[in-house]
Amino acid sequence: MQKQFLFLGTGASTGIPMIGCACHVCTSKDPRDQRLRSSGLLTLGTKRLIIDVGPDFRTQALRHQITSLHGVLITHAHSDHVAGIDDLRAYYLLDHKTIPCVLSKETMRELQQRFHYLWMPKAKDKSLVAQIAFFPHEGDEGTFLFEDIPIQFFTYHQKEMKVTGYRIGSFAYVSDIREYGEGIFTFLENVDILVLSALRHDPSPMHFTIDEAIEFARKVKAKATYFTHIAHEIEHERTARVLPPSIFLAYDGLTVEIPK
Ligand SMILES: [Zn+2]
Ligand SMILES: [Zn+2]
Repeated sequence: MQKQFLFLGTGASTGIPMIGCACHVCTSKDPRDQRLRSSGLLTLGTKRLIIDVGPDFRTQALRHQITSLHGVLITHAHSDHVAGIDDLRAYYLLDHKTIPCVLSKETMRELQQRFHYLWMPKAKDKSLVAQIAFFPHEGDEGTFLFEDIPIQFFTYHQKEMKVTGYRIGSFAYVSDIREYGEGIFTFLENVDILVLSALRHDPSPMHFTIDEAIEFARKVKAKATYFTHIAHEIEHERTARVLPPSIFLAYDGLTVEIPK
């Protein structure tokens, strides 16, 4: 089965350029410095899954012609990862199918408050809101099957926010990580492709710095690690040039092949 991951967005929560900012990255002519909110499209054979559905989802779906979608994996409930959920409605309008969405119980509870209408008793006219079937995972770690493909999930934290990481075969997606238990490395053993969030050089209470992400990546020892969720303090060219071998800065539109 051919497996591929497309970076739909690699930006921090503001998106880059940030509204009203005239810094050298926000005004950079390098397209790799323009970052939509972090998200990715995972292609597994004929199936397409997205990881997170942030506020730029509509733009991302149009840019990459995502005209069909078989599932959604959500990492956590911060707005930059879920605010585009209403735009999944287009898929019901297109093919009248409900989209399965996997998330933690805590994330689902948050979404039930913010997007309560997605849980309203089904109206006669289903096309009025996105049609999503929510599948909250049991516990903080485990494996579920998506269309016969095993997907592992595990948990870490960003302050009090619980965040879910996902592993599919030799690919893992770990975004918005700040605190974690050593057990996380068991889930990431022998990963070939690791996608990892790295905000900027200055410390943040919510994210790894570039150096902290390098340290984490070195422990995982993936064949290739791609940093995402990048803030406007990071200029692509200058930072990419000095990263250690096998660690890369991702950019919007980058596609990576997943070996197995
Ligand atoms: Zn985020
Ligand atoms: Zn800026």
